[in-house]
Amino acid sequence: MFNKKVLCRYCFRGNAVKKHGTAPSGYQRYLCGHCKRTFQREYIYNAYKPPEELEKKREYLNKERLSLLKSLSNIDKSGMVN
Ligand SMILES: [Zn+2]
Repeated sequence: MFNKKVLCRYCFRGNAVKKHGTAPSGYQRYLCGHCKRTFQREYIYNAYKPPEELEKKREYLNKERLSLLKSLSNIDKSGMVN
């Protein structure tokens, strides 16, 4: 009765998707446990938005992804020092 199951927009799996706070736009954000990407369900339905706004969101998502990757790959970094 809550919501339809949310599928990851990248890998289309639904069994590892968790709520991941709320975006500045007010949309519910989700984090996929499989591909470690965050996305918004509403974003999928509004894929025809003006490019400018899409760019902003893409930029924002990229930053999010980078910070997420950073926190996930702290161990990698120390291993990559040559
Ligand atoms: Zn995924």
